[in-house]
Amino acid sequence: MRPATQHALIAAMATTIIAHADELTALDQAIGDGDHGLNMRRGFEAVLSDVDALAGQPLRDALMNLGTTLVMKVGGASGPLYGTLFMTLAKELPAEPTVAEAATALDKAITAVKARGKSEPGQKTMLDVLIPVQQVLAHGGSDLLRRLPLVAEEAAQATVPMHAIRGRASFLGARSVGHMDPGARSSAVLVAAACSALEGACL
Ligand code: ADP
Ligand code: MG
Repeated sequence: MRPATQHALIAAMATTIIAHADELTALDQAIGDGDHGLNMRRGFEAVLSDVDALAGQPLRDALMNLGTTLVMKVGGASGPLYGTLFMTLAKELPAEPTVAEAATALDKAITAVKARGKSEPGQKTMLDVLIPVQQVLAHGGSDLLRRLPLVAEEAAQATVPMHAIRGRASFLGARSVGHMDPGARSSAVLVAAACSALEGACL
């Protein structure tokens, strides 16, 4: 990936998460312990402070370093899970991935997140956004960079009626119903940021 594209991609994910930190915190206050926005902001502030160096690295190294930073800085349940996602993408993505190769790599990364979290779709977690996004990516077709954020947004909305089975929200049992999962929302924010940066780079 060109360093300018890689810079735009990483900076967009970090600045968009930082801009949504209060919203993520509010979602986690409703069904968790209220730290998801703070956790993600801390992690992506560390990523942003390193973006110039990350942009110049091979894609594999940049994603591995980004994932390691998230594991070290985000904390909570989501830090190791997002860390696993990005570190597996680092291992699986070729230097210049096609759409099909990106879909395969994301599938492997989701499998790793499931193993790490002992979680499955339908349990009101980030997986409920990542999996539908991967499925649409794997199906391919035109206009993916515009369609994927809509898919992610809809999938995050679809966690509202779900009953949490994993993560802190599961402690609430049926009272978790009626609120969007914070990790589903942060995943949708990341997908939207990544697509908009890549769209800008492709124009
Ligand atoms: P914590 O729950 O430790 O306070 P965060 O608030 O940062 O951590 O992150 C919570 C989010 O992490 C949840 O909204 C959910 O999307 C995700 N999550 C938690 N546990 C799991 C799991 N076992 N598998 C997948 N995602 C999970
Ligand atoms: Mg929390």
